Amino acid sequence: MAPHATPQPVQSIAHGDLSGRVGVEVIQARGIDADALVSKLVDAAAAEFTTYYYYTVLRMYLAGHEDYKQVCEDARLEDRAHFELIAPRIYELGGTLPYDIRRFAERSGCPDAYLPGTGGGSRNGRLRDDVVAEATPAAILEVLLEAERCAIRAWSEICDIAAGKDLRTYDMAMRILNEEIEHEAWFIELLSMERDGVARPSGHFQRGAAGDAPYSKNRGFYNP
Ligand code: ZN
Ligand code: FE
Repeated sequence: MAPHATPQPVQSIAHGDLSGRVGVEVIQARGIDADALVSKLVDAAAAEFTTYYYYTVLRMYLAGHEDYKQVCEDARLEDRAHFELIAPRIYELGGTLPYDIRRFAERSGCPDAYLPGTGGGSRNGRLRDDVVAEATPAAILEVLLEAERCAIRAWSEICDIAAGKDLRTYDMAMRILNEEIEHEAWFIELLSMERDGVARPSGHFQRGAAGDAPYSKNRGFYNP
């Protein structure tokens, strides 16, 4: 089908039939492979969820750099918002999250954002007062930056798949992509000055409230 050709109307789901979904039928009629899309969304949801976890660790080690901590916190909470936004879409499409969180984490579409100096997460730190000398602000900012870049690539790909065919997934992925692009700009700005002493402005100031997620949170729906 040409990209913007009007799809043939389909009506294969019988009156009262719960085994099919018109919301899926219409996107399939427009050329979407619903199973493949669900699979991509699960991978991307896993990346958001694991990033949220790893950013929790990374943020702790920015101690003494309260401005970096604040920006990391915004990115962390917004990635959680991205998981929250996209998880229901997986079910609307007839899919499910994996029932085991280990399988979920393994499916992540992005590499683990390990704290620098922890041997890819394998180092056995002391449970109390562990010191990780390699976890410098510059090293941490590099990990944060590359995680955002992976997210931009992943959501851009989902936008490409959904554009003009699955408008709801497109709208959600676009909201997330908006914030991921802002996140990359934040960490370019901070890393550039921290590591290279060069100003590369993001063009932004910090969020009004931590993890504000101006594009991806639909506050009005649930908390009027
Ligand atoms: Zn995200
Ligand atoms: Fe992000």
